Amino acid sequence: MAPASRHFLVRPIGRGVYAAIATPAGYGLCNATIVDLGGRTVVFDTMLTPAAGADLARAAERLTGRRPDWVVNSHWHGDHIWGNASFPDGHIVSSRGVREQVVRRSRQQFRDDRREFRKVLRGPSPPGPGIPPNDREQALSWFLAVVRLPRSHRIVPPELTFEGEMELTGSRRSVRLITYGGGHSPSDVFAFLPDERIVLAGDLVMVGLHPSVSDGWPDRWTRILGRVQRLRPDRVVPGHGPVGSGRSVAVAREYLGRLERIVRRAAREGATLGEIVREPIPDRYSDWGFSFMFPANLERTYRLTRGSRRAPRQR
Ligand SMILES: [Zn+2]
Repeated sequence: MAPASRHFLVRPIGRGVYAAIATPAGYGLCNATIVDLGGRTVVFDTMLTPAAGADLARAAERLTGRRPDWVVNSHWHGDHIWGNASFPDGHIVSSRGVREQVVRRSRQQFRDDRREFRKVLRGPSPPGPGIPPNDREQALSWFLAVVRLPRSHRIVPPELTFEGEMELTGSRRSVRLITYGGGHSPSDVFAFLPDERIVLAGDLVMVGLHPSVSDGWPDRWTRILGRVQRLRPDRVVPGHGPVGSGRSVAVAREYLGRLERIVRRAAREGATLGEIVREPIPDRYSDWGFSFMFPANLERTYRLTRGSRRAPRQR
């Protein structure tokens, strides 16, 4: 029996490998994965809140018979690491770049999000007019979860860092932790289970949802996904959305290419930034969630294409 949590549903995806898929009404927001290495337990990402993180730690203990020994952070964004405080016995592992970002930016992100979400929740029809019907439940629990965290919320950065690649090994299997630099964020770590060909992607891959490029670089991200594809994964646990297949990596890569093409074409036609952010969502992504990300993705792509120092013509 999979342990119950209001924050996530447990989906076994291989022997001793369990995806924890965030529920729209819970305070987890991002997905996590529990891996039984044999004699050692790894948890990949810790979700948005210590409450969700605590449920994840309990689920790991029930599923593997052990408290997590290692906890991996895919990148610095709060929805993947603010549950770290609920793993006091686990060593938190990530790239050196992720640690730097957490130390430098996480407290400020927490303050900014808390202030902004509180304002939205006090305003008319929370979670706000810009959020489409399909995303409202998730957005509302996201905002509520953050404003309900205490101001003193403890942010725990990774304590064990690597560059390039490191391997965690147990008696049954190994997991490779890999960073090819930053694409979605300044430093992105993913995990690869070579025997099962499973990739734990963090936000490098989303399934059925618009990714966010606001803190990243579509071109570098595309190159990273090309290298992930070369590992020929069979299954992918995305940062958000249901468990995907190897094809999900290609779909994520196509989306980024599409963004760049839309922006290049519009800029060639002399469109202003104001016009570019109103470009329609291509049909094939029309049923994807988080559609409110699309204009911001176009804007980021445009600014990177033009060089952010040159102020774009605004209308
Ligand atoms: Zn992210």
